[in-house]
Amino acid sequence: MIVEILAVGTELLLGNIANTNAQYLSRRCAVLGFSVYHHTVVGDNEDRMTEAIRQALGRSDIVILTGGLGPTEDDMTKEVCAKVMGFSLEEDAHTRKRISGYFQATRRKKITENNWKQAVVPVGATVLDNDNGTAPGLILRKGEKTAILLPGPPNELMPLFTEKAEPYLRTLQPETIYSKMVKVCGIGESRAETMILDLIDSQTNPTIATYAKTGEVHLRVTARAADKTQAKKLVKPVVKELKNRFGIHIYSTKEEEGLEHTVVKLLKKYGLTVATAESMTGGLLSGRLVNVAGASECFCEGFVTYSNQAKRKALGVKKETLKRYGAVSEETAKEMAKGGAKAAGVKACVAVTGFAGPEDSKEEPKGLTYISCYLNDKVSVEEFHFTGNRMKIREQAVVQALDLLRRCIVEQYQR
Ligand code: ATP
Ligand code: MG
Repeated sequence: MIVEILAVGTELLLGNIANTNAQYLSRRCAVLGFSVYHHTVVGDNEDRMTEAIRQALGRSDIVILTGGLGPTEDDMTKEVCAKVMGFSLEEDAHTRKRISGYFQATRRKKITENNWKQAVVPVGATVLDNDNGTAPGLILRKGEKTAILLPGPPNELMPLFTEKAEPYLRTLQPETIYSKMVKVCGIGESRAETMILDLIDSQTNPTIATYAKTGEVHLRVTARAADKTQAKKLVKPVVKELKNRFGIHIYSTKEEEGLEHTVVKLLKKYGLTVATAESMTGGLLSGRLVNVAGASECFCEGFVTYSNQAKRKALGVKKETLKRYGAVSEETAKEMAKGGAKAAGVKACVAVTGFAGPEDSKEEPKGLTYISCYLNDKVSVEEFHFTGNRMKIREQAVVQALDLLRRCIVEQYQR
């Protein structure tokens, strides 16, 4: 089933407001298993709206219209849509009663004559009662085509959609959609895609969609079937194959679980406490860990050691190391991690040192970063060349630091 979202309002075209309704409706439609092929925006103009509605109904099965259901002269979505679809208009006694009830309940000023315009509905349309405003939603069905009209204000549109329009849409979509997320870290988007190109190319059900995130790639495997059990059955072998291909680089298959959640879960599972030793990330890494509720059980101390002096004083990095290799070096990163663990009296510490830019320094290019993880007397270190602006570089460093800690734990405890 193909859906088109048609937002009405000159305000949208002028750039005065963002079309967040279209974003919201698209997301919901995707969850319901509908394919949204077009987003259209049209101003409050009868001719252009007529044309837009005609075109939308011509190429889509369902058109969801938002906005222009209010009481004023320029609110004309209902009138134009009814005309295009061949519906006549008539006052609906039930809606009229609800409008006066709404005015009483919200102690609004006197009802003006034009408010009754909102009680007029296309004959034969399904009226969706609006509990948060006066304009009801409407469903118009003609042959195989459906138009769903919803008010513009998001606080009216969203509850009306989920409570009244969604149950209707579900009756048009007999298939169930089930999807599973596979979250990958430490592999770039294009490499990740290349690694599964054959899977992407050869499959229509389930499908695999890739989403690039900072330092991560998320893969969504989606299947359609008559019911959830069958859809799950289709998804399972594909997820298994992704696990084979990406191995340790997969940190989670849970929608709501971020990298920091996985890390905290692992630390707790193995009774570990971690410290952080940060130079270029300046506390961003400890901040991400503390984002997780309950991080106090496994995160004890964060060192922000920006200067060489701080690295020496707080972490015991040797003067000789800094002089010989520089602050941004494998050796310094390793001493930071080891020194951080010692200073905090814990078994694990992650350290980050690098150049975030904006300019290339004399000795090293911006983006060059060393991340080290000390865990149970074993120390690992990795070199990265991040690109982007200062903030992007620092964010990528945080992701890779969390991931290195995660991989170190997995390697020592789960293999
Ligand atoms: P009203 O009864 O308030 O006039 P309406 O259904 O006629 O409602 P509009 O007049 O088109 O809707 O828009 C009213 C308000 O709703 C806008 O000022 C804006 O704040 C919000 N709105 C309208 N369309 C959108 C949209 N596509 N995305 C986000 N917000 C929107
Ligand atoms: Mg309006």
